[in-house]
Amino acid sequence: MRDLIILGSGPAGLTAGIYAARAHLKPLIVDGHEPGGQLTLTTMVENFPGFPEGLLGPDLIRSMRQQAERFGAEYRHGTATEADLSRRPFRITIDGATEECQTLIIATGASAKMLGLESERKLVGHGVSTCATCDGFFFQDQEVMVVGGGDSALEEALFLTKFAKRVTLIHRRDKLRASKIMQEKALAHPKVDFLWDSVPEEILDVAKEQVTAVRVRNLKTGAVTERPIDGIFVAIGHTPNTAIFQGKLEMDAVGYITTHDGTKTSVPGVFAAGDVQDHVYRQAITAAGSGCMAAIDAERFLEH
Ligand code: NAP
Repeated sequence: MRDLIILGSGPAGLTAGIYAARAHLKPLIVDGHEPGGQLTLTTMVENFPGFPEGLLGPDLIRSMRQQAERFGAEYRHGTATEADLSRRPFRITIDGATEECQTLIIATGASAKMLGLESERKLVGHGVSTCATCDGFFFQDQEVMVVGGGDSALEEALFLTKFAKRVTLIHRRDKLRASKIMQEKALAHPKVDFLWDSVPEEILDVAKEQVTAVRVRNLKTGAVTERPIDGIFVAIGHTPNTAIFQGKLEMDAVGYITTHDGTKTSVPGVFAAGDVQDHVYRQAITAAGSGCMAAIDAERFLEH
Protein backbone atom coordinates (compact mmCIF):
# COMPACT_ATOMS: atom_id res chain seq x y z
CA MET A 1 0.00 0.00 0.00
CA ARG A 2 1.17 3.49 -0.82
CA ASP A 3 1.10 6.58 1.35
CA LEU A 4 0.08 8.77 -1.57
CA ILE A 5 -1.14 8.52 -5.13
CA ILE A 6 -1.28 11.67 -7.26
CA LEU A 7 -3.59 11.64 -10.26
CA GLY A 8 -2.46 14.00 -13.00
CA SER A 9 0.92 15.19 -14.26
CA GLY A 10 0.40 18.90 -14.99
CA PRO A 11 1.98 21.61 -12.82
CA ALA A 12 -0.35 20.80 -9.89
CA GLY A 13 0.37 17.06 -9.86
CA LEU A 14 4.10 17.44 -10.46
CA THR A 15 4.56 20.13 -7.79
CA ALA A 16 2.64 17.93 -5.36
CA GLY A 17 5.04 15.17 -6.45
CA ILE A 18 8.14 17.26 -5.70
CA TYR A 19 6.94 18.22 -2.22
CA ALA A 20 5.61 14.75 -1.35
CA ALA A 21 8.76 13.02 -2.58
CA ARG A 22 10.92 15.36 -0.51
CA ALA A 23 8.75 14.42 2.50
CA HIS A 24 9.64 10.72 1.78
CA LEU A 25 6.06 9.80 0.85
CA LYS A 26 7.30 8.01 -2.32
CA PRO A 27 4.29 9.23 -4.34
CA LEU A 28 3.02 7.42 -7.39
CA ILE A 29 2.12 9.97 -10.06
CA VAL A 30 -0.37 8.74 -12.64
CA ASP A 31 0.16 10.56 -15.94
CA GLY A 32 -3.48 10.69 -17.04
CA HIS A 33 -4.92 10.93 -20.54
CA GLU A 34 -3.11 14.21 -21.33
CA PRO A 35 0.40 13.73 -19.81
CA GLY A 36 1.80 17.09 -18.70
CA GLY A 37 -1.60 18.74 -18.94
CA GLN A 38 -2.48 21.89 -20.83
CA LEU A 39 1.08 23.27 -20.72
CA THR A 40 2.06 20.65 -23.27
CA LEU A 41 -0.43 22.26 -25.67
CA THR A 42 1.27 25.62 -25.56
CA THR A 43 4.56 26.88 -26.94
CA MET A 44 6.20 29.81 -25.13
CA VAL A 45 5.46 30.43 -21.43
CA GLU A 46 6.60 33.90 -20.42
CA ASN A 47 4.78 34.38 -17.11
CA PHE A 48 6.15 31.52 -15.01
CA PRO A 49 8.36 33.24 -12.40
CA GLY A 50 12.06 32.46 -12.54
CA PHE A 51 12.41 32.34 -16.33
CA PRO A 52 13.00 35.92 -17.52
CA GLU A 53 13.48 34.82 -21.14
CA GLY A 54 10.44 32.49 -21.05
CA LEU A 55 10.55 28.79 -21.81
CA LEU A 56 8.56 26.22 -23.75
CA GLY A 57 5.58 24.65 -21.95
CA PRO A 58 6.76 21.07 -22.64
CA ASP A 59 10.27 21.97 -21.33
CA LEU A 60 8.80 23.35 -18.11
CA ILE A 61 6.85 20.12 -17.60
CA ARG A 62 9.91 17.99 -18.39
CA SER A 63 11.95 19.87 -15.75
CA MET A 64 9.21 19.45 -13.14
CA ARG A 65 9.02 15.70 -13.89
CA GLN A 66 12.79 15.31 -13.48
CA GLN A 67 12.72 17.32 -10.26
CA ALA A 68 10.03 15.08 -8.69
CA GLU A 69 11.80 11.94 -9.91
CA ARG A 70 15.09 13.08 -8.39
CA PHE A 71 13.49 12.94 -4.94
CA GLY A 72 11.86 9.53 -5.44
CA ALA A 73 8.52 10.10 -7.18
CA GLU A 74 7.43 7.19 -9.36
CA TYR A 75 5.46 7.57 -12.60
CA ARG A 76 2.80 5.35 -14.09
CA HIS A 77 1.71 5.86 -17.65
CA GLY A 78 -2.04 5.42 -17.79
CA THR A 79 -5.37 6.75 -16.60
CA ALA A 80 -7.35 6.14 -13.43
CA THR A 81 -10.60 4.51 -14.51
CA GLU A 82 -12.18 3.79 -11.10
CA ALA A 83 -11.87 5.09 -7.55
CA ASP A 84 -13.26 3.56 -4.38
CA LEU A 85 -13.15 6.36 -1.79
CA SER A 86 -15.72 4.78 0.56
CA ARG A 87 -13.05 3.63 3.04
CA ARG A 88 -9.32 3.78 3.61
CA PRO A 89 -7.12 2.61 2.09
CA PHE A 90 -8.59 4.10 -1.07
CA ARG A 91 -8.57 1.80 -4.08
CA ILE A 92 -7.65 3.30 -7.43
CA THR A 93 -7.85 1.32 -10.65
CA ILE A 94 -5.28 2.39 -13.21
CA ASP A 95 -5.84 0.80 -16.60
CA GLY A 96 -7.10 -2.43 -15.04
CA ALA A 97 -4.58 -2.70 -12.15
CA THR A 98 -5.69 -1.72 -8.64
CA GLU A 99 -3.48 0.29 -6.28
CA GLU A 100 -4.21 1.10 -2.63
CA CYS A 101 -3.28 4.35 -0.92
CA GLN A 102 -3.77 6.16 2.39
CA THR A 103 -4.07 9.57 0.75
CA LEU A 104 -4.99 10.75 -2.72
CA ILE A 105 -4.30 14.02 -4.51
CA ILE A 106 -6.56 14.66 -7.48
CA ALA A 107 -4.84 16.95 -9.99
CA THR A 108 -6.56 15.73 -13.13
CA GLY A 109 -7.15 19.26 -14.44
CA ALA A 110 -9.75 20.53 -16.81
CA SER A 111 -9.65 20.14 -20.55
CA ALA A 112 -10.50 23.07 -22.76
CA LYS A 113 -13.36 22.21 -25.08
CA MET A 114 -12.26 22.38 -28.68
CA LEU A 115 -14.19 22.84 -31.91
CA GLY A 116 -13.05 19.46 -33.17
CA LEU A 117 -11.49 20.64 -36.44
CA GLU A 118 -8.43 18.78 -37.72
CA SER A 119 -6.75 22.12 -38.59
CA GLU A 120 -7.44 23.40 -35.06
CA ARG A 121 -5.65 20.38 -33.55
CA LYS A 122 -2.66 20.80 -35.87
CA LEU A 123 -2.27 24.54 -35.19
CA VAL A 124 -2.53 24.47 -31.38
CA GLY A 125 0.43 26.51 -30.12
CA HIS A 126 0.92 28.00 -33.62
CA GLY A 127 -1.82 30.60 -33.49
CA VAL A 128 -4.61 28.47 -32.00
CA SER A 129 -4.85 29.00 -28.26
CA THR A 130 -7.23 28.33 -25.39
CA CYS A 131 -5.71 30.89 -23.02
CA ALA A 132 -5.52 34.63 -23.68
CA THR A 133 -3.68 35.28 -20.40
CA CYS A 134 -0.96 32.88 -21.55
CA ASP A 135 -0.70 33.78 -25.23
CA GLY A 136 -2.32 37.21 -25.76
CA PHE A 137 1.02 38.98 -25.48
CA PHE A 138 2.24 37.32 -28.69
CA PHE A 139 -0.43 39.12 -30.74
CA GLN A 140 0.70 42.73 -30.37
CA ASP A 141 -1.04 44.88 -32.96
CA GLN A 142 -2.42 41.83 -34.78
CA GLU A 143 -5.88 40.58 -35.70
CA VAL A 144 -7.35 37.85 -33.55
CA MET A 145 -10.60 35.94 -33.31
CA VAL A 146 -12.32 34.57 -30.20
CA VAL A 147 -14.85 31.73 -30.44
CA GLY A 148 -17.76 31.53 -27.99
CA GLY A 149 -20.51 33.61 -26.45
CA GLY A 150 -20.09 32.95 -22.72
CA ASP A 151 -18.30 34.88 -19.99
CA SER A 152 -14.98 33.20 -20.81
CA ALA A 153 -15.12 34.27 -24.46
CA LEU A 154 -15.96 37.86 -23.58
CA GLU A 155 -13.32 37.98 -20.88
CA GLU A 156 -10.73 36.65 -23.33
CA ALA A 157 -11.86 39.13 -26.00
CA LEU A 158 -11.63 42.11 -23.63
CA PHE A 159 -8.24 40.97 -22.34
CA LEU A 160 -6.94 40.63 -25.90
CA THR A 161 -7.85 44.25 -26.72
CA LYS A 162 -4.79 45.22 -24.65
CA PHE A 163 -2.57 43.75 -27.35
CA ALA A 164 -4.44 43.11 -30.56
CA LYS A 165 -5.33 45.65 -33.21
CA ARG A 166 -8.78 44.11 -33.57
CA VAL A 167 -10.64 41.27 -31.84
CA THR A 168 -13.47 39.53 -33.68
CA LEU A 169 -15.81 37.49 -31.53
CA ILE A 170 -17.52 34.73 -33.46
CA HIS A 171 -20.62 33.18 -31.92
CA ARG A 172 -22.91 30.46 -33.23
CA ARG A 173 -26.10 32.34 -32.24
CA ASP A 174 -27.24 35.97 -32.31
CA LYS A 175 -27.51 36.18 -28.49
CA LEU A 176 -24.67 36.02 -26.03
CA ARG A 177 -24.80 33.66 -23.06
CA ALA A 178 -22.46 35.87 -20.99
CA SER A 179 -23.55 38.01 -18.04
CA LYS A 180 -25.15 41.37 -18.91
CA ILE A 181 -22.25 43.40 -17.55
CA MET A 182 -19.70 41.53 -19.69
CA GLN A 183 -21.97 41.89 -22.72
CA GLU A 184 -22.24 45.64 -22.22
CA LYS A 185 -18.46 45.99 -21.90
CA ALA A 186 -17.69 43.92 -24.98
CA LEU A 187 -20.43 45.42 -27.17
CA ALA A 188 -19.24 48.92 -26.32
CA HIS A 189 -15.54 48.25 -26.88
CA PRO A 190 -14.25 49.94 -30.05
CA LYS A 191 -11.75 47.14 -30.75
CA VAL A 192 -14.27 44.27 -30.52
CA ASP A 193 -16.30 43.22 -33.57
CA PHE A 194 -18.99 40.54 -33.60
CA LEU A 195 -19.71 37.84 -36.14
CA TRP A 196 -23.15 36.43 -35.29
CA ASP A 197 -24.71 33.09 -36.22
CA SER A 198 -21.33 31.89 -37.43
CA VAL A 199 -18.77 29.17 -36.75
CA PRO A 200 -15.20 28.56 -37.89
CA GLU A 201 -15.30 25.80 -40.47
CA GLU A 202 -11.57 25.59 -41.16
CA ILE A 203 -8.46 27.27 -39.77
CA LEU A 204 -5.76 28.09 -42.31
CA ASP A 205 -2.92 27.41 -42.97
CA VAL A 206 -1.76 24.01 -41.79
CA ALA A 207 0.85 23.82 -44.57
CA LYS A 208 2.49 27.03 -43.33
CA GLU A 209 2.26 25.82 -39.71
CA GLN A 210 0.71 29.09 -38.63
CA VAL A 211 -2.70 30.71 -38.49
CA THR A 212 -3.29 33.03 -41.43
CA ALA A 213 -7.09 33.00 -41.86
CA VAL A 214 -10.33 31.36 -40.82
CA ARG A 215 -13.02 30.02 -43.12
CA VAL A 216 -16.29 31.08 -41.53
CA ARG A 217 -19.75 29.59 -42.14
CA ASN A 218 -22.86 31.63 -41.48
CA LEU A 219 -25.31 29.12 -40.01
CA LYS A 220 -28.37 31.08 -41.13
CA THR A 221 -27.43 31.81 -44.74
CA GLY A 222 -24.93 28.99 -45.32
CA ALA A 223 -22.50 31.54 -46.80
CA VAL A 224 -18.80 30.71 -46.38
CA THR A 225 -16.26 33.53 -46.21
CA GLU A 226 -12.57 33.73 -45.45
CA ARG A 227 -11.21 36.16 -42.85
CA PRO A 228 -7.51 36.85 -42.57
CA ILE A 229 -6.39 36.66 -38.92
CA ASP A 230 -3.20 35.99 -36.98
CA GLY A 231 -4.58 34.04 -34.06
CA ILE A 232 -7.72 32.33 -32.84
CA PHE A 233 -8.71 31.78 -29.21
CA VAL A 234 -11.19 28.98 -28.56
CA ALA A 235 -13.22 29.88 -25.46
CA ILE A 236 -16.20 27.56 -25.55
CA GLY A 237 -15.79 26.24 -22.00
CA HIS A 238 -13.76 23.70 -20.06
CA THR A 239 -14.61 20.23 -18.80
CA PRO A 240 -13.14 19.28 -15.42
CA ASN A 241 -11.75 15.74 -15.52
CA THR A 242 -13.80 14.41 -12.63
CA ALA A 243 -16.07 11.78 -14.20
CA ILE A 244 -14.79 8.93 -11.98
CA PHE A 245 -15.48 10.94 -8.80
CA GLN A 246 -19.12 11.79 -9.58
CA GLY A 247 -21.26 11.03 -6.53
CA LYS A 248 -18.15 10.32 -4.42
CA LEU A 249 -16.89 13.85 -3.77
CA GLU A 250 -18.67 17.18 -3.41
CA MET A 251 -18.60 19.13 -6.67
CA ASP A 252 -20.20 22.24 -8.08
CA ALA A 253 -22.91 22.07 -10.73
CA VAL A 254 -20.36 21.89 -13.57
CA GLY A 255 -18.25 19.16 -11.95
CA TYR A 256 -15.35 21.10 -10.39
CA ILE A 257 -14.32 19.52 -7.06
CA THR A 258 -15.20 21.62 -4.02
CA THR A 259 -12.28 22.24 -1.65
CA HIS A 260 -12.16 23.78 1.82
CA ASP A 261 -9.44 24.64 4.36
CA GLY A 262 -6.73 24.54 1.71
CA THR A 263 -7.05 21.54 -0.59
CA LYS A 264 -9.33 19.27 1.50
CA THR A 265 -12.27 17.67 -0.29
CA SER A 266 -15.44 16.23 1.24
CA VAL A 267 -13.61 12.92 1.90
CA PRO A 268 -10.86 13.05 4.57
CA GLY A 269 -7.54 12.01 3.06
CA VAL A 270 -8.53 13.09 -0.46
CA PHE A 271 -7.13 16.43 -1.65
CA ALA A 272 -7.63 18.34 -4.90
CA ALA A 273 -5.25 20.77 -6.61
CA GLY A 274 -5.04 22.76 -9.81
CA ASP A 275 -7.69 23.35 -12.46
CA VAL A 276 -9.81 20.40 -11.30
CA GLN A 277 -10.91 22.62 -8.38
CA ASP A 278 -10.25 26.08 -9.86
CA HIS A 279 -12.18 27.48 -12.80
CA VAL A 280 -11.20 31.07 -11.98
CA TYR A 281 -7.40 31.47 -12.17
CA ARG A 282 -6.36 28.44 -14.28
CA GLN A 283 -2.67 29.38 -14.39
CA ALA A 284 0.37 27.10 -14.25
CA ILE A 285 1.71 29.01 -11.26
CA THR A 286 -1.57 28.87 -9.29
CA ALA A 287 -1.90 25.17 -10.11
CA ALA A 288 1.67 24.59 -8.93
CA GLY A 289 0.94 26.54 -5.73
CA SER A 290 -2.13 24.46 -4.92
CA GLY A 291 -0.18 21.27 -5.73
CA CYS A 292 2.34 22.28 -3.07
CA MET A 293 -0.52 22.91 -0.62
CA ALA A 294 -2.07 19.51 -1.36
CA ALA A 295 1.22 17.69 -0.68
CA ILE A 296 1.62 19.49 2.65
CA ASP A 297 -2.02 18.75 3.53
CA ALA A 298 -1.54 15.05 2.68
CA GLU A 299 1.66 14.87 4.74
CA ARG A 300 -0.06 16.42 7.77
CA PHE A 301 -3.04 14.09 7.37
CA LEU A 302 -0.71 11.08 7.40
CA GLU A 303 1.14 12.40 10.47
CA HIS A 304 -2.10 12.60 12.41
P1 NAP B 1 -20.22 28.65 -21.12
O1 NAP B 1 -20.94 29.63 -20.27
O2 NAP B 1 -20.69 27.23 -21.17
O3 NAP B 1 -20.21 29.25 -22.60
C1 NAP B 1 -19.71 28.51 -23.67
C2 NAP B 1 -19.99 29.30 -24.94
O4 NAP B 1 -19.38 28.61 -26.03
C3 NAP B 1 -21.48 29.44 -25.26
O5 NAP B 1 -21.75 30.72 -25.75
C4 NAP B 1 -21.71 28.37 -26.30
O6 NAP B 1 -22.68 28.73 -27.25
C5 NAP B 1 -20.37 28.33 -27.02
N1 NAP B 1 -20.09 26.99 -27.55
C6 NAP B 1 -20.09 25.81 -26.89
N2 NAP B 1 -19.74 24.81 -27.69
C7 NAP B 1 -19.53 25.37 -28.91
C8 NAP B 1 -19.13 24.86 -30.17
N3 NAP B 1 -18.89 23.55 -30.35
N4 NAP B 1 -19.01 25.72 -31.21
C9 NAP B 1 -19.23 27.04 -31.05
N5 NAP B 1 -19.60 27.59 -29.87
C10 NAP B 1 -19.74 26.76 -28.82
O7 NAP B 1 -18.67 28.53 -20.73
P2 NAP B 1 -17.69 29.68 -20.14
O8 NAP B 1 -17.85 30.93 -20.86
O9 NAP B 1 -16.35 29.04 -20.09
O10 NAP B 1 -18.21 29.88 -18.66
C11 NAP B 1 -18.30 28.77 -17.74
C12 NAP B 1 -18.82 29.28 -16.39
O11 NAP B 1 -17.83 30.10 -15.78
C13 NAP B 1 -20.07 30.13 -16.53
O12 NAP B 1 -20.89 29.90 -15.44
C14 NAP B 1 -19.54 31.53 -16.51
O13 NAP B 1 -20.48 32.50 -16.05
C15 NAP B 1 -18.37 31.39 -15.54
N6 NAP B 1 -17.34 32.42 -15.86
C16 NAP B 1 -17.45 33.64 -15.23
C17 NAP B 1 -16.56 34.65 -15.52
C18 NAP B 1 -16.68 35.97 -14.86
O14 NAP B 1 -17.63 36.15 -14.11
N7 NAP B 1 -15.79 36.90 -15.08
C19 NAP B 1 -15.52 34.44 -16.43
C20 NAP B 1 -15.44 33.21 -17.06
C21 NAP B 1 -16.36 32.21 -16.76
P3 NAP B 1 -24.24 28.80 -26.84
O15 NAP B 1 -24.40 30.07 -26.07
O16 NAP B 1 -24.93 28.82 -28.15
O17 NAP B 1 -24.51 27.57 -26.04
